[in-house]
Amino acid sequence: MPTIPISRSDRLFILSGAGLSAESGLPTFRGANGIWRNHRVEEVASPVAWARDPEMVWQFYTWRREVHQGCRPNPGHQALAELESKLGERLFHCTQNVDSLLDQAGAGRVVHMHGRLFWSRCDRRGCPQPPFPDERGYPDLASIPGCVCGGRIRPHICWFGETPFHLDEIFRALASSSVFLCVGSSGVVEPAASFAAEVKRHSGARTYYVGPEVPANRDSFDECFQGKAGEVLPELFQPARKTAAAVCAKQEN
Ligand code: NAD
Repeated sequence: MPTIPISRSDRLFILSGAGLSAESGLPTFRGANGIWRNHRVEEVASPVAWARDPEMVWQFYTWRREVHQGCRPNPGHQALAELESKLGERLFHCTQNVDSLLDQAGAGRVVHMHGRLFWSRCDRRGCPQPPFPDERGYPDLASIPGCVCGGRIRPHICWFGETPFHLDEIFRALASSSVFLCVGSSGVVEPAASFAAEVKRHSGARTYYVGPEVPANRDSFDECFQGKAGEVLPELFQPARKTAAAVCAKQEN
């Protein structure tokens, strides 16, 4: 089994993508061919779609909320939650996933750069009302709530063409990390696809990837561990000293 040695002085940055939740039954964009009711996902998850047809957009997110209801965290989510409790402030976990499976596994400090499936917010820029937890579905135009400011309630999701959340915090964490691990992300969606190259260039960090397929940004990783997140992650992290001892013991035999 592959391992990543973590020393006491290491700071770890984790970037997780849709593949982390695939074993929980949530399709990745690639896995579902990126198609919903004959629409490409990019066409439904965009400000243009919202302006043109908010009913269709909410039907898409209502469907995604329903699909999520029966899903549970898998051993990959649990391994990352355990790592968070072991490393504390030395771990920064940024996810592209909008699902709440990491939260359910007990990972409470994850930064959701693409928003949250079970949160909504007002669509008016400058509205002072903050995003709020919301598990409901909105099947038609009449059911979509309005905000007190006169705006319309939309999913709290970073759509294609919008700026991801928490970027300042994310780039600060990248600059101070010595180990970078990406799990289950195809390496196509920016800006996350460039994080591995960024952390290598700025901090000289060791970079690793976990997933069944080679990502598009393979060149940015020192090592790729090919396998499913739920199978690879639970074994992946070892204290540096223990791994060195294991390697020495192997050489002596
Ligand atoms: P992606 O769909 O582009 O790529 C998914 C990657 O996961 C692929 O490279 C695939 O090989 C890998 N994968 C499949 N099964 C895996 C497994 N068991 N273990 C590990 N890896 C596995 O996803 P992305 O790079 O995260 O980017 C696409 C966008 O999709 C993001 O913006 C994200 O917000 C959104 N998205 C999120 C969810 C979710 O919240 N669960 C689901 C679908 C899409």
